[in-house]
Amino acid sequence: MREVLSAGEMSFREESGRWVVEEVSNQSTGYCPDVSSWPAVAEAPDRIGIHHPSGFTHEVVFRRCRSCQELSIVWEENFVCVFCGEDLPRKRNVGEPG
Ligand SMILES: [Zn+2]
Repeated sequence: MREVLSAGEMSFREESGRWVVEEVSNQSTGYCPDVSSWPAVAEAPDRIGIHHPSGFTHEVVFRRCRSCQELSIVWEENFVCVFCGEDLPRKRNVGEPG
């Protein structure tokens, strides 16, 4: 089995008769990819010649709460667990080491 390089959501739109990538995010609560996985994401549309943004249009930061063990999404640098209000670690602690 090969490691997962990134995951998330990608949407496309048609522009002058060609498909281009409209929005890309790393929002995958299954894999919790780090935002640093962008180069692996860009490789797929590059390979088939589809234009894409220069980075994630929606960057999602994941942290595992040390207190309640729930997976939280960090909103606007606000490192607080949405489930129990505990402070979330600044250092990445989910998915592959980023
Ligand atoms: Zn919590």
